[in-house]
Amino acid sequence: MSRFKKSKFNPETLQIEVISYSVKDYVWWSLRNIGWIVLVGTSSILLFDFAFDSPKDRVQSREIAFLESQISRLENDIDEMVSVLDNIEVRDDAIYRTIFGTDPYPEYRRNPGIGGADRNRALRGYDHTDDISDLTVRVAEVQRRLVAQSRSFDEVIELANTHEERLNSIPAIQPVRNYDLKRVASGWGNRFHPIYKVMKFHYGMDFSAPTGTEIFATGDGVVVKVRRSYTGYGRHIVIQHGFGYETLYAHMSKTLVVKGQKVIRGETIGLVGNTGTSVAPHLHYEVSKDGKKVNPAHYYFNDLTPAQYEILLQNAEVAHQSFD
Ligand SMILES: [Zn+2]
Repeated sequence: MSRFKKSKFNPETLQIEVISYSVKDYVWWSLRNIGWIVLVGTSSILLFDFAFDSPKDRVQSREIAFLESQISRLENDIDEMVSVLDNIEVRDDAIYRTIFGTDPYPEYRRNPGIGGADRNRALRGYDHTDDISDLTVRVAEVQRRLVAQSRSFDEVIELANTHEERLNSIPAIQPVRNYDLKRVASGWGNRFHPIYKVMKFHYGMDFSAPTGTEIFATGDGVVVKVRRSYTGYGRHIVIQHGFGYETLYAHMSKTLVVKGQKVIRGETIGLVGNTGTSVAPHLHYEVSKDGKKVNPAHYYFNDLTPAQYEILLQNAEVAHQSFD
């Protein structure tokens, strides 16, 4: 077995001594040193890595911070869009649609609910799953509401285009001259029937006036019925105004239009009389909307001020007996 020699200064004896090692000792010594180096080196690298980000880590952290800030910016943007949209919807329902006398846009069309497949399945399993799926849901909601709002505006534009025609067609004046508002003999509601002598619902308004008084079409339209009868309405006319409106003028002494004739508001269509089931010369006037009789008193907005309207309603209310 060969031996390795090594000189070493001994401070106690002050002599240089020669120490000899076996190969085994030498290999063991080397391995131990290598072991230490590896251990210290590895732990230094690990500690360093733990304490300090690598350049790649730093880039990724910056990237994540950037994305998080973008997510919260988008959330704020959506908040803003939703509040603008809320405002547009309120204005649409409360102003635009009201101006044209139509109902608010139906809620079920504005917000039909999501339903169907799980839209967020692909987003599951990440740290930011909740944030992103919230965003996705809210963006989808805004999209739906925008589409609904756009359709609602299409309807409003259509209403605006036909607005003038509609305004001219709605039966919006009184059917006889009534400057002092004294002509109203009986209004809408339960009245004592002059012939049958019982309480009956009076589906119109009676205007007392001398025979021969002019009767006016209350809105633009087409005469759809001119009839002569010895009972009921007597000589009467029905005008169709479009947009769901129809008016009826009864107990006339004379009709001055023919079936199919176009008339405009204020045009004379006949004269007051006492024909049919009637006890005195008067005009019985009815307004129908979408096939249902409605109170004509609500439709005189074109020729009455609010104060006059109030008087008219009072006069119509105090009369307990209709002329039918
Ligand atoms: Zn009547």
